[in-house]
Amino acid sequence: MSITVLGVDPRSRSKQKLQAPAPLPHVSRRALARVRDRIAPPTACHCCRGPVKLTNNRDIYAGQSFGEWPYVYRCTQCQAYVGLHPDTDLPLGIMASKETIKARKDAKFLFQRLTKERFANNRTAAYAWLAKALGIAPSICHFGMFGHDQADRAADVCRAQLGSRA
Ligand SMILES: [Zn+2]
Repeated sequence: MSITVLGVDPRSRSKQKLQAPAPLPHVSRRALARVRDRIAPPTACHCCRGPVKLTNNRDIYAGQSFGEWPYVYRCTQCQAYVGLHPDTDLPLGIMASKETIKARKDAKFLFQRLTKERFANNRTAAYAWLAKALGIAPSICHFGMFGHDQADRAADVCRAQLGSRA
């Protein structure tokens, strides 16, 4: 399915306090403003079109809530999920299976090393390099938007760039 990448959420400029969908305690305008490449909250599962629930991630991590903003959009049918940008109701990317999310995490770990070692922690420069290496637009060059194959490819190009030290 095609996912549309949108600009900054107009609610970031709202004068009123924002409504937070349950179970989120709040949605911050300042946090919304930080999300440049936005994907709308899923109304149907990105994988199977099944129903999606906004929930605490303790449902996934064996009863243990995880992280400072422990919420996910989760499919009640195939269990695909995606985390949220902190202090917002915006998904980090596209809903995916546990295996894909693991592949994204592994790739991101290598990418963060590369960012530190080769780009002097300049994330913008590192992401620009990665988008070019993968041949994709910078607006969709986010680990949360990668499918399994793309995550594996990202890991491969980062590993190659890190050379023998990876
Ligand atoms: Zn699903």
